[in-house]
Amino acid sequence: MNIILLGPPGAGKGTQANLLVEHHGMRQLSTGDMLRAAVKAETPVGLEAKAVMERGELVSDEIVSALIDAELAAMGDGVGAIFDGYPRTEAQARSLDEILAKHDRKLDHVIELVVDEEALVDRVTGRFTCAKCGEGYHDRHKLPSSTGVCDKCGSTEFKRRPDDNEQTVRTRMQEYRAKTAPILPFYEERGIVQRVDGMASIDAVTTAIEKVLASA
Ligand code: AMP
Repeated sequence: MNIILLGPPGAGKGTQANLLVEHHGMRQLSTGDMLRAAVKAETPVGLEAKAVMERGELVSDEIVSALIDAELAAMGDGVGAIFDGYPRTEAQARSLDEILAKHDRKLDHVIELVVDEEALVDRVTGRFTCAKCGEGYHDRHKLPSSTGVCDKCGSTEFKRRPDDNEQTVRTRMQEYRAKTAPILPFYEERGIVQRVDGMASIDAVTTAIEKVLASA
């Protein structure tokens, strides 16, 4: 099964993708994670992408589609893919069709997480993760139960994304509205778009996504 999780920054795509990985052994393909790894490793792609990401704008279609193509090439045939943060433009959606065909895969579902934008600014600007295991936390909604210690792995190191500040979040949302939301009709024509209430609890969103996956 191959699915796209679509939604603005902070909609919960990464959280839900992680849960699908845990429950179904699928693989999360997050272009944001791949780009952050490239920035950290100072690869040519990372050096090109860094400033663009800090501004909250989109990295070139060619770069992200090449990253996805390479990941799919390295993946086992039987492993399902969750596209998280890709495609983000119509050109990327068209590239994804070609890439999937090349790897003998087809798209089963596009799941749009529907969210309230003002609530997203609050979500995104407060979030941080454990630097060791990646567990997600939030300044206002989910602090570790023992101050400064990760509930899951006990690490005392945490990190925040440099682009999770209000100004950049607003640019990222604008990019979503202008370039990403318009790709929905492209998939709607095929009858594969399902909408899920992304403002519900994490568990409720997971249940709704599971229902979509169980449908034909
Ligand atoms: P994300 O982790 O998905 O929020 O992505 C973080 C940043 O990486 C975005 O604000 C963009 O600058 C860049 N990025 C991630 N995925 C894409 C994509 N599919 N197309 C263009 N830029 C991307």
